[in-house]
Amino acid sequence: MVELTKQQEERAKRLHEEAVVVDTHCDTLGHFLRRSWPRRRPRKLGERSEEGHIDLPRLVEGGVDCQTFAIYTGNKAIVPEATLRALQMVDVFYREIGENEGIVSVTKPDEIIAAKEGGKVAGLLSIEGAEPLMGDIGLLRVFYRLGVRMLSFAWNYRTPFADGLNAKRAESKLPDLGVQALEEMDRLGMVFDVSHLSDSNFWDVADVMKGPFIASHSNCRDVCDHARNLTDDMVKALADHGGVMGMNFAPAFVAKENPTVEDVVDHIDHIVDLVGPDHAGLGSDFDGIGNPPAGLEDVSKMPNITRVLVKREYSDEDIRKILGGNHLRVFKEVLR
Ligand SMILES: [Zn+2]
Repeated sequence: MVELTKQQEERAKRLHEEAVVVDTHCDTLGHFLRRSWPRRRPRKLGERSEEGHIDLPRLVEGGVDCQTFAIYTGNKAIVPEATLRALQMVDVFYREIGENEGIVSVTKPDEIIAAKEGGKVAGLLSIEGAEPLMGDIGLLRVFYRLGVRMLSFAWNYRTPFADGLNAKRAESKLPDLGVQALEEMDRLGMVFDVSHLSDSNFWDVADVMKGPFIASHSNCRDVCDHARNLTDDMVKALADHGGVMGMNFAPAFVAKENPTVEDVVDHIDHIVDLVGPDHAGLGSDFDGIGNPPAGLEDVSKMPNITRVLVKREYSDEDIRKILGGNHLRVFKEVLR
């Protein structure tokens, strides 16, 4: 599908190996807890599966150096079950990683570099949607102590910290508790993630925050019109803060019909045209989406992104930034 010359293939292979490849979002943890017919037991990190998109063998094959694993509880309600489910996901993250030599849990950027140098994948823990915090900043500190280093305030609904994009009063302002939580995240050193936030709360966050924030798994609304993607003005505001957007592979966020890996890179092109090469990254959403684009069927196909970037004549430096250097820059600034 992506045709390259022999020389381009060699360049793509070298760059993908050299780069610290970072993916800022997947929903794989839930699959380690879930049984689904006809499987008798949940998937395992260390076993290559024919199902879903991410396990350790496929991460290694795809040359991913740092994978963020999201705790997603999916509860519309703020109920203790969301906190219980989140804690079970923290447990399964450490259990699965503990069973495998080839992956380590990390909380700092130098640990990501050390993992790569040691030939291991780095696993970083995030929370998607603050339902498990139950509006308690104390629980934010608890999850920080459990190793969570990235957080979004809302999935698609309302939490005490912010409005998700489907919240009924999505025009409302960020609540005081959300502002306090942002300040506490800044003090602790946690990456703030605006993916899934309502448009109005995005702008509140951009007003309140001084440092960088990321959109862990969102694309460009001006390339593919979907509420989960960011408008050009939002992309500019994120870039003004020194932030990064991780490209999401969910077909509905990529292109209208039959998206391919080329369509994903169209979003990268758009960001680079708009704000330069320092603000695009990868945030696959693997294991949280159905039917990924052709050429990105699972994480083992991640090198195809690099092959398209090479085909489109990006420089070595820009390819390294987009594959993970940009996210690493934000991690270095925030995770202290
Ligand atoms: Zn999501």
